[in-house]
Amino acid sequence: MSDQLSPLSLRRKTRQIMVGKVPVGGDAPIPVQSMTKTDSRDVEATVSQIYSYAGAGCEIVRVSVPTKKAGEVFHEIVARSPIPIIADIHFDYRLALVAADGGAACLRINPGNIGGQDRVRAVVDKAGEKGISIRIGVNGGSLEKDLLEKFGTATPEAMVESALRHLEMLEKEGFTNTKISLKASDVVRTVQAYRLLAKQVDYPFHLGITEAGTPFGGTIRSSIGMGILLAEGIGDTVRVSLTGDGEEECRVGHEMLRALELRSGGIRMVSCPSCGRVQIDLNRVANEIEAGLKAINHEGITYAVMGCVVNGPGEARDADLGVAGGAGEGLIYRRGELIRKVKEEDLVPAFLEEAKKFKAEKELAGI
Ligand code: SF4
Repeated sequence: MSDQLSPLSLRRKTRQIMVGKVPVGGDAPIPVQSMTKTDSRDVEATVSQIYSYAGAGCEIVRVSVPTKKAGEVFHEIVARSPIPIIADIHFDYRLALVAADGGAACLRINPGNIGGQDRVRAVVDKAGEKGISIRIGVNGGSLEKDLLEKFGTATPEAMVESALRHLEMLEKEGFTNTKISLKASDVVRTVQAYRLLAKQVDYPFHLGITEAGTPFGGTIRSSIGMGILLAEGIGDTVRVSLTGDGEEECRVGHEMLRALELRSGGIRMVSCPSCGRVQIDLNRVANEIEAGLKAINHEGITYAVMGCVVNGPGEARDADLGVAGGAGEGLIYRRGELIRKVKEEDLVPAFLEEAKKFKAEKELAGI
């Protein structure tokens, strides 16, 4: 990708804040985050879910603190978490204070919803004392009544005005350690809202399409919505919301960032959609290879699994390690060089064997 088109070179200039040890904004890599789906009073289940998210590449995790009981055990979750935790608070500012004392790295709270400037001051003072950041999270589904009356509905302009109001309440107290999200359940409004606000403030943005849907639809909506913004340089941290598996949210988030060359690392697997030319069971081969590669976990590598000899060898040659199918057989390429020709039934083990060998050699060479 040329520099002119690179989303990295277009990245909006934002101030940098910290979420624990993870920088957000400025020129920091865009972290992927997710939210736990367990009952946050259940320490064991929540910690175990955080570990499994972290294993899938989650770098920041949000945990809701909806009740006093959840607040009481929050510090235990923080103490055992391998990644920084954002405490998600609605309305009750006292829970924000408890979460901050419990070690939250960031508070997700809307200052306009907690009952007055005095309470905002209490939260801001606590956040300042603990050195933690705040995320303002405007949601199209829960906008202030007067804004809905003024704009007729939750328009992008209404969402932006809501965000500016919340921001002003923090700024009034001298607090600027803030990031903002503007989530609508549809892609178009979300994109418009972020674009509008990007012209007005330099705070980092948390991107997300809220209630994005099932893994299939949600992945598409999230990738399009966030993809448009990220391609324009807007966005400093991402959360993909899917009904279901949080690990999948993280994987989709990383893949989105990698597709736009905003993050590197991880495993990149190119595979063809297959067509009438394919003469091997490509679906099975690609899925088995992908599963095997996860276990090998060789960061920063590109693999290609291609169905036939038309486009296959080209892609397979461009990858670090690639396979191109033939008639009941497959050719394995390493960095452009044909290294093996194997029968279809031996293709997956042979490819994974080469992948392990490749990793071991790179490690030995200290690359
Ligand atoms: S690589 Fe071959 S099998 Fe795969 S889509 Fe292209 S032409 Fe079809």
